[in-house]
Amino acid sequence: MSEPSIEATTVAPQVLLVNHFKALKLPTFAREYEKVGADCAREGVDYPRYLLRLCELERIDRERRTMERRIRLARFPVTKSLDTFDFVAMPTLNKSLVLELARCEWIDKRENVIALGPSGVGKTHTALALGLAACQKGHSVGFTTAAALVHELMEARDEKRLRALQKQLTNVKLLIVDELGYVPFTAVGAELLFEVFSRRYEHGATLVTSNLPFDEWTSVLGSERLTGALLDRLTHHVHILEMNGESYRLATSKKRQQRNTKLNTATEKGEAKP
Ligand code: ADP
Ligand code: MG
Repeated sequence: MSEPSIEATTVAPQVLLVNHFKALKLPTFAREYEKVGADCAREGVDYPRYLLRLCELERIDRERRTMERRIRLARFPVTKSLDTFDFVAMPTLNKSLVLELARCEWIDKRENVIALGPSGVGKTHTALALGLAACQKGHSVGFTTAAALVHELMEARDEKRLRALQKQLTNVKLLIVDELGYVPFTAVGAELLFEVFSRRYEHGATLVTSNLPFDEWTSVLGSERLTGALLDRLTHHVHILEMNGESYRLATSKKRQQRNTKLNTATEKGEAKP
């Protein structure tokens, strides 16, 4: 006769269960099984349905955890979404295109998006919102500025880990390169950046924002030949977001000032309510 297992004799099943849940990576089971069990007993729910409830909770939790991890890995400087974007304030922006892009099919198709417009019109906001939507849809995302990216590439090159970084930059499903145009690059910097876009061409989706129209990109990339080749790849399958208009920052602070002036005038005239 075999010896009775230690499990059966000395250790409480609750302890064993939690151990098994941990080993099987089912933290929600471990946290919820007693409570859900008590609920099910009270409601007269059968065993399959009890298990089903636990499985559903585990999956919901797991999806949330993976999404949160994806968002952390994307390294967004802040979280912005389209819910807080005022399309009325930016009439040149094609709202239906933006909403369509938020469905992320362009990412599956490895297409690109370029948002163009002066400072303060919401390019970064839109890029962050599309990046967040991509994370929510299950895509890996990397967010960086053009200057930071070039800096990182140069550093990696000096430290002989350029290949690893290039690989990482190639493999992310959506790479967002914000603010191309503010800082001109050295010849080496421009070439390293070109290589990133070149490797991503038809391999992954890329979103670029720039304050410069295409014909001025040479001023930051230096060489006309390189700019041509880069634009060629980037614009082969591209959705352009034209964002021309007044700076949202400037417009809101102007509005605030106007409100304050009105309020002050009213106070001087004794019209304002206390
Ligand atoms: P850009 O990248 O074009 O310079 P940002 O996206 O940084 O502009 O926008 C500047 C600020 O104004 C941000 O705080 C952004 O959230 C806000 N903003 C810009 N456009 C809008 C808009 N249409 N609706 C709501 N907020 C906006
Ligand atoms: Mg910006």
